[in-house]
Amino acid sequence: MPRLSAPPVVKSLKEALNYLRGATTMEWAIVLACWFSLTLISLIISTGIAIDHARSRFTDDGNRLRHNIEQRLKTAELVMLGLGDIASESSLRPDIRLTRYASEAAKRYDFVYTMGLQPLVRSEERARFEQMEAQRYPGFIIKDYQHANEHNWKSRLQWMRAPERSLYLPWVTAEPSLPASANHVRGLDLLADDVVGPTLQRAIASAETELTPSFSLSDGASAFAYTRAVYPTQPPPDSPLLRREEAKGMLVLVVRTAALLDTGATPDDYELKLERADGAARHLDLILARHEPRQKASTLEHLLLPRLTSSQSISTPFFPYQLKLAHQVGFSILHAPTMVLCFLLSALPALMVLMMLGMRREARRSHDDVSESLHRERENAMVTLQAISDAVITFDIRRIVQYLNPTAARLMSIRIEEARERPLQELFHLRYEFSKQAMADPFMECLQRRCVVELAENSYLIRPSGDKLLIEGTISPLFDRSGSLQGAVLTFRDTAPVRRRMLEALEASEDRLREHEKELARVARINSMGEMTSGIAHEINQPLSAIMSYCQASLSLLEDDEPDLEMIHQAMHSAVSQAERAGKIVLRLRDFVSKRNQDCAPVDVNHAVLNALTLTEHEVLDSEVHLEYRPAANLPLAYADTIHLEQVVLNLIRNAIDAMQSVRPWGRLIIETSYFAERIRISVSDNGPGIPQETLERVFEPFFSTKQKGMGLGLTICQTIIESIGGQLSARNKTGGGAEFIVELPPLDARTFAQQAGVEPS
Ligand code: ADP
Repeated sequence: MPRLSAPPVVKSLKEALNYLRGATTMEWAIVLACWFSLTLISLIISTGIAIDHARSRFTDDGNRLRHNIEQRLKTAELVMLGLGDIASESSLRPDIRLTRYASEAAKRYDFVYTMGLQPLVRSEERARFEQMEAQRYPGFIIKDYQHANEHNWKSRLQWMRAPERSLYLPWVTAEPSLPASANHVRGLDLLADDVVGPTLQRAIASAETELTPSFSLSDGASAFAYTRAVYPTQPPPDSPLLRREEAKGMLVLVVRTAALLDTGATPDDYELKLERADGAARHLDLILARHEPRQKASTLEHLLLPRLTSSQSISTPFFPYQLKLAHQVGFSILHAPTMVLCFLLSALPALMVLMMLGMRREARRSHDDVSESLHRERENAMVTLQAISDAVITFDIRRIVQYLNPTAARLMSIRIEEARERPLQELFHLRYEFSKQAMADPFMECLQRRCVVELAENSYLIRPSGDKLLIEGTISPLFDRSGSLQGAVLTFRDTAPVRRRMLEALEASEDRLREHEKELARVARINSMGEMTSGIAHEINQPLSAIMSYCQASLSLLEDDEPDLEMIHQAMHSAVSQAERAGKIVLRLRDFVSKRNQDCAPVDVNHAVLNALTLTEHEVLDSEVHLEYRPAANLPLAYADTIHLEQVVLNLIRNAIDAMQSVRPWGRLIIETSYFAERIRISVSDNGPGIPQETLERVFEPFFSTKQKGMGLGLTICQTIIESIGGQLSARNKTGGGAEFIVELPPLDARTFAQQAGVEPS
């Protein structure tokens, strides 16, 4: 089943994880610093955007407020105008028209607090006025208010009867009427009041509508008032003095600041201030109305965030006003999700930085690895070039030598430093003789064809010293990474040692051939010995048959009534002579294998056994016998005719193979050599039927054989051979079944060698 490769995203993620895992403390520090800085920058940017929003909202709010306030101020001035119209037509006494007008205005406009026409009382009229008013409001007096504590209107201590003055403006009318809590204000001499007095004085003198500064109402709320003097004649007198003399009362329209500014609809954190725009020129108290933010900004907000301000002009038919708005931007503009987003989004570039650092680290590491392996390879190449027996010369396309190894320097009898940067032709000349392939210039050939060029047969170099050096070698082109040709490498070797080695190898192979021939002769000899044995057996067979027929003839003669003793004697004599003949044949055989015929020499027994095994290899294989050969290590040499010894082992192996025919294919032949009790032993054992106990003694007798075509001479000859070199051949049955034949030989020592060689040891 084909293996599915991971998608590239997963691969990249895995890589990123690996980079993260391998990140160093320094890298983490850089990344965290990046993250922190990016979070800070994104927070600053998002705060900037939020401030921009706050600013545009502030501008919108400012415009809205300006528009609304302008409308209300214009309305207030219109109400004041209407009030003036009514007042100019009415007396100073309570007027139903004014009451209706006032209640209607108050109902329609919530910023209208109260209004009224307050009478101007001259000092000579004061007593009568007070008496008259006291009828409606018992205890009425014209009084002053000590502005020690503005919020303490109700305290009687703050009130006192007004001192003697030329003109009083006691507060008497209020439409809509004031709440009962404000009753104590009744009779207050407005002209002498510290807050509103100067404005009223000015209004009398100017005959214009004037605006009082801001003051507090009995309920603590802030207010200011429009005021205008009322004269009996229209237009009023020109002179301010006359105006003061003639003025009969003053209109006062009290406006509630909060309602005028509509502070309920103003954002909590806005600061509002309504000022007279012409005040500076006239040294007036500028502030008409003020609205403090209900929500206070913290010091940190003051420090870090901007304070937005705006100043807008409002112009009405009566006065120029200035509306001043201020707003301290607070942290509320920063939304938690935005901040979290900034934090998270900043993590992405920070992670990318981490990955880049990781990639840089990886790149550096792999660069180090590459340079390390490059260095190693260069070292390997250098060491190899220094060590090899071939000469190597590198040259560029102009045939200037770039490099040569010590072998090259040695072969050309030149120092490496001298050869470098020199043209190739200064170092040697390349020639060839008796070459079949004629080549003009192998260097040119290599550089032009850009392929490996073999030097022609019988090439030789003419060294700087002038002598010839027979060489063989190649010229290979050198390319750089882009595949362009850089030069070539000439590698060559001195063929003299090679030729010498070839000669030696030839001689060695000839030796081996001779050896092989000898071996062949030896094998032939072994085979001829076998044939000879069967020939001898055949020869012995003839006298034995003759003996048998003589004996049978003698027996039948003896059975006669009158045995012919002469004939019997003759027959027995002939039998004896035939037996002598057989004995002679056996003696001849013994002689053949006796000491005299043996070509004794020190023998490696293991080697002799191995030779015998080689000769019987096919028989072992054919008869499906499993062979185990256990040669002993460090076996001493024996002194024997190696061919005869091999003949013995060969015979024992063949007998074992014959015996194991009955257990085929489970035959197991074990051949073992050992050295024990100063005897070299060769044991040939099998897992055949073994030798019957009654015939165990007879197997070495001549002509004893249990085989159909056996001659019974093999073991006899073997015993003769072994005994002739001072050894022993014995047979036994193994306990687990099968027979074992043991050859025991004396090891070769100086004495044995001398004895066997017929020389007395010195
Ligand atoms: P041949 O092989 O011609 O019979 P040998 O002298 O070699 O003559 O052997 C004599 C006899 O010894 C054999 O016929 C056989 O009965 C017996 N013999 C030899 N080797 C073995 C053996 N490994 N197992 C059983 N009997 C054996």
